[in-house]
Amino acid sequence: MKKLLNGILDFRKTKRKEYAQLFSDLSAFQSPDTLLVACSDSRVVPNLFASTDPGDMFVLRNVGNIVPEYGTFRGSVGAAVEFAVNQLQVKDVIVCGHSNCGAVAAIMDDMKFEGDLAAWLGIGAEMKQIKPPKGEWSRLDLASQANAILQIRRLSSYPAIANAIKERGLRLHAWWFNITEAEVLRYDDDKGQFIVLDEEEIPKLLAKL
Ligand SMILES: [Zn+2]
Repeated sequence: MKKLLNGILDFRKTKRKEYAQLFSDLSAFQSPDTLLVACSDSRVVPNLFASTDPGDMFVLRNVGNIVPEYGTFRGSVGAAVEFAVNQLQVKDVIVCGHSNCGAVAAIMDDMKFEGDLAAWLGIGAEMKQIKPPKGEWSRLDLASQANAILQIRRLSSYPAIANAIKERGLRLHAWWFNITEAEVLRYDDDKGQFIVLDEEEIPKLLAKL
């Protein structure tokens, strides 16, 4: 908490003026073009690794970046998906997993929890049946990559997503943040593996947009 409070002081002193116009422009409405679903893990900081500004991304975070199959666990995930897709009309939806994910480890190693955490992780158990992608990664990192791919499949079960894909070409992507190297990877369906978004890969993707 001390760090947060001192951080507010620092923001007021050094950045608030610089962002004044942007926040003034954003005060009445938002128009992000991307919905990002990420894990609550404190080491995953999308605004930092994607150099985004306020207003750029609509973000949904939860333990394990899990998306329940449509209609099975109604609540904040479906609400965020419907709001982002139907109201904000985002063009892309990204599920971003990450290395050393505690939620994935808990599911893969059958760790026992109680209450809401047990119920929530139970939704992720299907991950164990997913064939992991290719690549030289640890068992748990391959599982968290498979988990991101699974959530993309599940997102397709949401009518809002399925309609937007059909009607206006909404795109779905599985990303994965490698904490050790501070690198972002994306799942390449043709190659069957996650590849680093770098100076070689990103221009190719930008050319397709
Ligand atoms: Zn995690």
